[in-house]
Amino acid sequence: MSSASACTPYELYSKESGKSYGNQPLSICDESFTPLEVRYDLEAARSIFTRKNIEAGPANIWRYRGLLPIPEGFEPDLPVGFTPLVKAKNLGRRLGSNNLYVKNDAVCFPTLSFKDRVVAVALANARAFGFETVGCSSTGNLANAVAAQSARLGLKACILVPADLEPAKILNTLVYGARLVRIDGNYDHVNRLCSLIADQYNWGFVNVNLRPYYSEGSKTVGYEIAEQLGWKLPDNVVCPMAGGSLIRKIKKAFDELIYLGLVEAKHVRFFGAQATGCSPISQAVKGNTDVITPQKPDTIARSLAIGNPADGPYASRLIRETGGWAEDVSDVEIVSGIQELAEAEGIFTETAGGVTTAVTARLIAQGRISPDELTVSVITGNGLKTTDCINDRFTVGRAVRPRLADFEDYINELDGNSAPAEPELAIAGGN
Ligand SMILES: *Cc1c(COP(=O)(O)O)cnc(C)c1O
Repeated sequence: MSSASACTPYELYSKESGKSYGNQPLSICDESFTPLEVRYDLEAARSIFTRKNIEAGPANIWRYRGLLPIPEGFEPDLPVGFTPLVKAKNLGRRLGSNNLYVKNDAVCFPTLSFKDRVVAVALANARAFGFETVGCSSTGNLANAVAAQSARLGLKACILVPADLEPAKILNTLVYGARLVRIDGNYDHVNRLCSLIADQYNWGFVNVNLRPYYSEGSKTVGYEIAEQLGWKLPDNVVCPMAGGSLIRKIKKAFDELIYLGLVEAKHVRFFGAQATGCSPISQAVKGNTDVITPQKPDTIARSLAIGNPADGPYASRLIRETGGWAEDVSDVEIVSGIQELAEAEGIFTETAGGVTTAVTARLIAQGRISPDELTVSVITGNGLKTTDCINDRFTVGRAVRPRLADFEDYINELDGNSAPAEPELAIAGGN
């Protein structure tokens, strides 16, 4: 194996109890009852995870395989990730920043959300652990990613979602042939049921018993931001939060890059974004505590609607320790955020991206983010999946007859300088 495709030795361990678990499908420490993490031999990584090896790799997340938990013998070949980092000049001008970037996972391959990254890494481990069936509890995007990637890997899939999920996310799961079970309850009910199923059957649930491996996939967002900035770190990251895993893992990625000398050390501040209708982490940050008070979600941002977030305490602590902040926005602001990003940058994001954009706007308005600081707003999903939330903001115009005069009348109408309408008869008579 060449060093460019080598992996660093890794194992599961608990930060709290210090206990090691080797590699197995397990997510919670049996002594401290806290989430398990993947730990790498970072000294061994010094000769493996180098800029040279990364740059020689493919233009997708597997260029970072040196610090991903990929079991021996698994040869990843799905081109997930390496999405654009876009300088958002227009949006920045509107919001009052002249150094704003958008990380655009609305176009992540294959299912148009950042969840493709976590699923790719989790499913790389499925066969090594002897799973023929995989699944997840999902608020939508994860369901799409598991369904698509399990189809390609030839694994059976069983996916559980809250019954009220957006129709596009349901269809985007069924089309791949996955078994979909709609649960009469919210995400937290679904997630508890999945834990019971995982115990009962020998199935790999990407965000339950495979969760430590899954969440490592989120690090690739952080690696890409640093590499795309020319191996530099930003001043600020604004990140949407559901379970609170992504924001933690972007931080972990930056810390690893600094530790291994791939970027210069820099203090990055982390800002979390939630919808007010499901804001347990932002409430904890505002209350200056790690203690999460669970909520019953009620928001159009369904992909972020986790009322009892597994990584919530860690996310709250990390935000406060880095000198960042968390904000939450109303459903009306979420829709405005979607429109703002679309009109300014030509990027159509889903409700989660509306949350991130609206929160970024508020943080700049509050002066928590300064105009000259390099700020990355993390856009995580595609607007075509949540069209039902914005349909009523647009009126589809009447059909226009294929004549120049009719076209001109109509354009004038749209632009708001319509001349008094001519009588219907006179127009008809002109032919
Ligand atoms: C899952 C998801 C998130 C949040 O991820 P966590 O790691 O659970 O905090 C953000 N945006 C979108 C679109 C998602 O689907």
